[in-house]
Amino acid sequence: MRFTVLGSGSTGNAVLISSENTNVLVDAGMSAREILRRLGEVGIPHDRLDGILITHEHGDHAGGLRVLMASVDCPVFISRPTEDSYYDTRAGGQNGDSESSKRRAALKDRTVEIESTREFRIGDIDFEPFSVPHDAADNFGFAAKKDGVKVATLMDFGHMTDLIKEKLAGCDAIVVESNHSRDMLRACSVYTWDLKQRIMSRTGHLSNEDLSDWLQNDFDGTARHVVLAHLSQRANEPHLARLMAETALQMRSPLFRAETKITISHHKQPTEWIGF
Ligand SMILES: [Zn+2]
Ligand SMILES: [Zn+2]
Repeated sequence: MRFTVLGSGSTGNAVLISSENTNVLVDAGMSAREILRRLGEVGIPHDRLDGILITHEHGDHAGGLRVLMASVDCPVFISRPTEDSYYDTRAGGQNGDSESSKRRAALKDRTVEIESTREFRIGDIDFEPFSVPHDAADNFGFAAKKDGVKVATLMDFGHMTDLIKEKLAGCDAIVVESNHSRDMLRACSVYTWDLKQRIMSRTGHLSNEDLSDWLQNDFDGTARHVVLAHLSQRANEPHLARLMAETALQMRSPLFRAETKITISHHKQPTEWIGF
């Protein structure tokens, strides 16, 4: 199994998880055109996709989905609450041609209903989803499993729960949100107070500080790769997120040292493939 983060940040997220025979696109938050371009860049043409998995309805995870559907022929794996919320948009005009009805038409007969708490399979990859605290209908993280290799992906969650800590144990790689620096977010002059409160809340986004705390105190050290994702372009700096994560790993008690490599994902280009 191998994966690449095609792009990640407040402007759009997409991850590609592949086995020899199966390719799963996780989220379609960039424009369809950009997703197709990046799939080509990492060597997986769009006609080789076996499924698109949507974690939640927010625009930076599902905004490119409708247009992308015209270029691919694979199904969309989505939970019922997320699908309903995806259609419940006020974007577009008031006539019958609104964005909402376009979305329904694009997904008609092309979805596979999943549940955020029940295992499912796409091709030959098993997915073990788990709920995460976020202000969306039904957001989830998951562990993708194949031949004893386990890769977890979770973005858009306000705090580390016991369930998340449990699900991240024993993983070979973890793609995890490191959204903002608390100080940079507080000082950010572009965001309104309300938006800052939303981001910092228990159902908002995970900070560098929260992730560091988990890396230092709760991470089991198994994962050889931790990829930092969903970095805010306004309230974070890649080098700062990396420094905080690497420092946290070094602060672990000597008995629990971890040989873990930190990789930063970018909003503009895919990461290298990380494989097992
Ligand atoms: Zn997001
Ligand atoms: Zn979100």
